[in-house]
Amino acid sequence: MSKLKIAIQKSGRLSENSLNLLKECGIKFPNGGGKLITEATNFPIEILFLRDDDIPQYVEQKVADIGIIGENVLVETAKQIETVEKLGFSSCRLSLAVPKEIQYTDLSYFNGKKVATSYPVILENYFQQNNIQAIIEFISGSVEIAPGIGLADGICDIVSSGSTLRSNGLKEVENVMYSQAVLVASEDLDFEKNQILQKLLFRIRSVQKAKENKYILLNAPNDKLDEIIKILPGMNSPTILPLAKEGWSSLHSVIGEDQFWDVIQELKNAGAEGILVVPIEKMIV
Ligand code: ATP
Ligand code: ZN
Repeated sequence: MSKLKIAIQKSGRLSENSLNLLKECGIKFPNGGGKLITEATNFPIEILFLRDDDIPQYVEQKVADIGIIGENVLVETAKQIETVEKLGFSSCRLSLAVPKEIQYTDLSYFNGKKVATSYPVILENYFQQNNIQAIIEFISGSVEIAPGIGLADGICDIVSSGSTLRSNGLKEVENVMYSQAVLVASEDLDFEKNQILQKLLFRIRSVQKAKENKYILLNAPNDKLDEIIKILPGMNSPTILPLAKEGWSSLHSVIGEDQFWDVIQELKNAGAEGILVVPIEKMIV
């Protein structure tokens, strides 16, 4: 039986999250130990450890069938590969930054200026769309030092908290794109490999769904149940179990992480007591 080959980043900001995702999907494999390739013991998949920038090319050339990369790398390398699923981790943004003492007003500042970046394709498109004529200087790493050493007037780089920019005397002035990790696949996977991919996707979605939701348990007097049920959406309708205490019930349901605090407040106001909220490991829908 054929195996699906997945390429993930060998070491960097995507590595740990990518490995965790596979583990949460119940896929077991020996610890890489610096190896280039390892094989899962309980799922038909091989894991290739590569530099993230190389992954799109390997997937396009079908050396790997699927891969996990940042959207920024996907767009920058512009390879013929498909995005299968957004994974919700390693979120960051690609931004333009200038020395903090610059009186920046708008994008026209960059007309005729030199901008250092590791993302020349994305930046070129962005400037073109906004009718800016700037000179793009490609640097493969440590872009944030470019203005300080006189190589450029500004930079376009990945930002998450902004602390790297600040410590290099820069300020963020424009957002060029948002990025998160995505699962990509080569085009036209054969039938068997596609079936393995669908199995993997089913697991990934169950893991993601579980993270977006919480299991909630609470106690309430029976005369308040109708009101409380209206507040709780649940997967279908909530489970209600009688408590040993006369006239009281225990209610179990699932609530979305995003509406969590609002729902809890409403439940309390409606008379719910002893509210417990627990994480869900997998959620099959
Ligand atoms: P490699 O050696 O594999 O080429 P790299 O130095 O190019 O690694 P990393 O810094 O590990 O890359 O970043 C990998 C990806 O993680 C980026 O392309 C981006 O999508 C995401 N990323 C980068 N910086 C951050 C950050 N500060 N927070 C969250 N995600 C980030
Ligand atoms: Zn890289």
